[in-house]
Amino acid sequence: MKKIKVHLDKKVQTSYDIVIGSGIRDRIGLMIMKDFQKARCVVITDSNVSTLHGRAFLEEMKALGLSVELVEFPAGEQSKNMATMLSVIKKLFDLGVDRNSLLIALGGGVVGDMTGFMASIYMRSVPYIQIPTTLLAQVDSSIGGKTAVDLPDGKNLLGTFYQPKAVFIDTAFLETLPDQEYKNGVAEIIKYGIIDSAEFFDAQEAGAEALKKRDPAQLLRLVEQSCRIKKGFVEIDEKDTGIRHVLNFGHTIGHAIEAESDFRVPHGYAVALGMIAISRICEKKYDLSKSERERIERLIAAFDLPTSIPADISTEGIMLRLQGDKKKKDGKVQFVLIKNIGKPFWNGGVDRELLVKTLEGMRS
Ligand code: ADP
Ligand code: ZN
Repeated sequence: MKKIKVHLDKKVQTSYDIVIGSGIRDRIGLMIMKDFQKARCVVITDSNVSTLHGRAFLEEMKALGLSVELVEFPAGEQSKNMATMLSVIKKLFDLGVDRNSLLIALGGGVVGDMTGFMASIYMRSVPYIQIPTTLLAQVDSSIGGKTAVDLPDGKNLLGTFYQPKAVFIDTAFLETLPDQEYKNGVAEIIKYGIIDSAEFFDAQEAGAEALKKRDPAQLLRLVEQSCRIKKGFVEIDEKDTGIRHVLNFGHTIGHAIEAESDFRVPHGYAVALGMIAISRICEKKYDLSKSERERIERLIAAFDLPTSIPADISTEGIMLRLQGDKKKKDGKVQFVLIKNIGKPFWNGGVDRELLVKTLEGMRS
């Protein structure tokens, strides 16, 4: 088991640990017990995770003598809204949850974001813990304290910054994860190498086969390193006003592709396409070498993530979405760019023409 401490500005939030291991579920209950022995605990999860892991986890916690209940809602992004949240909140009231209680988010990003949001507003805030069960949530959304629900107008439009008391990551949860969900997380791991560490990128290349096969030791190493990189950005810029933007590498174009496909293209797949587009722009206009750009594309392809934009998603549609993007400046769209693998930078924006040409070049 490894421990990563997230140090935050003490005036605003308290620091907390990310605990990572493989097959540590039985110890998670004990660690919760240590700090929350008297608390009323409520595990919040979705219908899939409840069946696969939630009920067993609940029984294990009960066996330790903890007072714990389980509340579940239907799995899927369509549940990430105020209506579902209010129905869960109603159940919390019925259970008598109060400010001395502890919420435990067991699930992917939907469960984590929504539970965090609830915890931040329920009776003016109650503590919560994250136990992420998707690769995407383990390496990304469970760390950093961003909470949210979607609105009809767009994703994550209602939310808060509210840090958990702890994050417990057990990579053994990933054994049941569908392939598509797994690849969503792999795309973010690749992103961390590109934006922060050439060594990490090298390690991913060398261990690509092992990661693809979900080799427990390799998975553990890469999840841990990803968490270290993410927490580094969160510590410097908790509220996402500066350097944390670097984490958006590949995401501006990725989000446009996701939205333009009506979310049929999953997040990680769209980010993979966004990272390729930006790398090509960096090769053409900035200093990225051809060989590094090719390495990025090869690593993405090695995980069977997409390298070309589906035919039914028009360049014009993507461009319209990009132009509506809040990162636009002087008519140009702002992106996180790279000089080399591991060396990100910002600039004044990329020309429309170059963008269009790059997207057009990504048709199979
Ligand atoms: P995210 O990809 O943002 O973490 P979700 O919370 O929507 O997104 O999770 C994606 C899907 O994976 C959901 O259908 C969820 O129920 C399911 N899921 C989450 N964890 C597991 C797991 N360990 N095994 C199998 N399915 C899981
Ligand atoms: Zn992402």
